[in-house]
Amino acid sequence: MTSESAVHPPAPAASKFLPGPVLLLGAPGVGKGTQAQRLMADFGIPQISTGDILRDNIARGTELGRAAKGLMDQGQLVPDEMVNDMVKARLEQTDVERGYILDGYPRTLGQAEWLDRFLSLSDEKSPLVAINIQVDEQELLRRITGRRICPVCKTIYNIYSKPPKHSGVCDNEGSPLQHRSDDTENAFIERMKAYNSLTAPVIEHYSKQGRFRDVVGYRPVEEVTAFIESALRELRKAGE
Ligand code: AMP
Repeated sequence: MTSESAVHPPAPAASKFLPGPVLLLGAPGVGKGTQAQRLMADFGIPQISTGDILRDNIARGTELGRAAKGLMDQGQLVPDEMVNDMVKARLEQTDVERGYILDGYPRTLGQAEWLDRFLSLSDEKSPLVAINIQVDEQELLRRITGRRICPVCKTIYNIYSKPPKHSGVCDNEGSPLQHRSDDTENAFIERMKAYNSLTAPVIEHYSKQGRFRDVVGYRPVEEVTAFIESALRELRKAGE
């Protein structure tokens, strides 16, 4: 089963700060992808989005993509073993040395326990730090149904709050924007059910470990990024 990453190479390192492994947690539509792209540009570390890797596999028609598509369209989670294998393959690449942002993973306690074990057996010296972005459910639905994505540069737009200059077309690439097949109201309801029953315990798991911050996600995008970056610096300082 192939699990190649859809993630683009990170921008050149823009800072001496070493972020280490970062988890971006939060409900569907909370802004994890948008924030991960901004952290990637600011810190020069890769964004590893399990959702992007799965969508890339679907686009390439791999066995993994075929197995995942039906579950994803219904808003259900893909089995732990599949995503853990994908993450393992991605974390074995060499561009993760200064750190990385895991976006949308772990989503179950089983995945969190697998990741903790994997990192404890690896050469990684920096402990995980976790950021939990919070936004209320009504706003999440608006963000999900309004979301449009450039298939080429992966820039995320929103027809209500961050429209492209020309309707339906990426500002950078000029390519037609895509609407994810699971960004519908029905799939959102299922995704929230999965989030509340399976992912909420992951947040509790990392908050108990202490290297954790809640961040309010309904502020302007730049402000949320600034909060996250200062939380990361504080968390790393506290661990020195
Ligand atoms: P995302 O792009 O993070 O919103 O993920 C889209 C969909 O991909 C989810 O609704 C799941 O079906 C699947 N998926 C992404 N990440 C995971 C994960 N860590 N565990 C299980 N399923 C996942």
